[in-house]
Amino acid sequence: MTENNSGRVVVVGSLNMDMVAHASRLPAPGETLAGEAFVMAPGGKGGNQAVASARLGAAVDFVARVGMRQYGAELLQAMQSEGIACEAVVRDAAALPGIAVIMVAALGGENAIVYVPGSNAQLSAVDVRAAASTLQAAAVVVAQLEVPLPAVYAAFELARGAGAITVLNAAPALQLPAALLALTDWLVLNETEASQLAGLAVSAQTGVLPQAELAAGQLLSCGVKQVLITLGADGALLCTVEAMQHFPAQAVKAIDTVGAGDTFVGGLAAGLAEGMTAADAVRLGQAAAAIAVSRSGVQSAMPHRAELTNQFCRTV
Ligand code: ADP
Repeated sequence: MTENNSGRVVVVGSLNMDMVAHASRLPAPGETLAGEAFVMAPGGKGGNQAVASARLGAAVDFVARVGMRQYGAELLQAMQSEGIACEAVVRDAAALPGIAVIMVAALGGENAIVYVPGSNAQLSAVDVRAAASTLQAAAVVVAQLEVPLPAVYAAFELARGAGAITVLNAAPALQLPAALLALTDWLVLNETEASQLAGLAVSAQTGVLPQAELAAGQLLSCGVKQVLITLGADGALLCTVEAMQHFPAQAVKAIDTVGAGDTFVGGLAAGLAEGMTAADAVRLGQAAAAIAVSRSGVQSAMPHRAELTNQFCRTV
């Protein structure tokens, strides 16, 4: 299938500027520590997933609220340079965009983060409804939980009404209203988020797959059509009320797994928008995530479609 006959992916979500300072260790409270490197890069789950989808060849629209007081113009420019359509983004002249201040220790890779949500927290159902025509033209609508629930709900209502596939990446984990779950075709979350949402204590004795199966069973009983639980290097578990299917992860040397989930979700959405089967769309997400974890960085590590081998090479 070529890019031209693929449906559009619409991502509704957060956009942040990540400010990352690397030092030998994390500072103690009150301490000033000389760092070794500083990197500023666009992030936020919405932005990350939009970039992952676009790099894999999807036509992507972004629906968001972006504060223009600092970094907003740079953030939007970065999205547009990936070919992502930003016409449906509300530019908020009075607000700051989301900002994450991240400290990373060289020893052990430990980190500490202060996240200021800024304009992401102001995305409203009204903002989303103003993008109705964009949402109604989508093949797949993707959202995460770094923007308020009423905005996500409004997006899924419009998407469902127009027959689009809805993908909810329930990260960070929040209790979800049954009405939102009923509008969700794919609930995608990692094993920690799945256990939190299902109200299960994480037990080392249960084992990764049985724990995920338990959580998936609970979540399916809440009315979601299918639940996809990502398990890091242990792959992913796709569950419907009829069946559970395990997809092993590709064996790669992991360098930096931050953003693996976002790359996976972006790839899944791109695959679904191309009309792939559920299993193939999962495999596309996994193939992209395996490449991303073998490089450092988040958006900078996400692969382009041409880098994928075997069945995902596209003849455009
Ligand atoms: P999150 O970043 O949300 O915690 P995961 O770590 O579960 O998400 O990763 C999402 C997907 O990325 C996994 O299902 C897997 O396919 C792929 N992945 C993650 N870590 C690795 C790894 N170390 N090796 C290969 N693939 C990986």
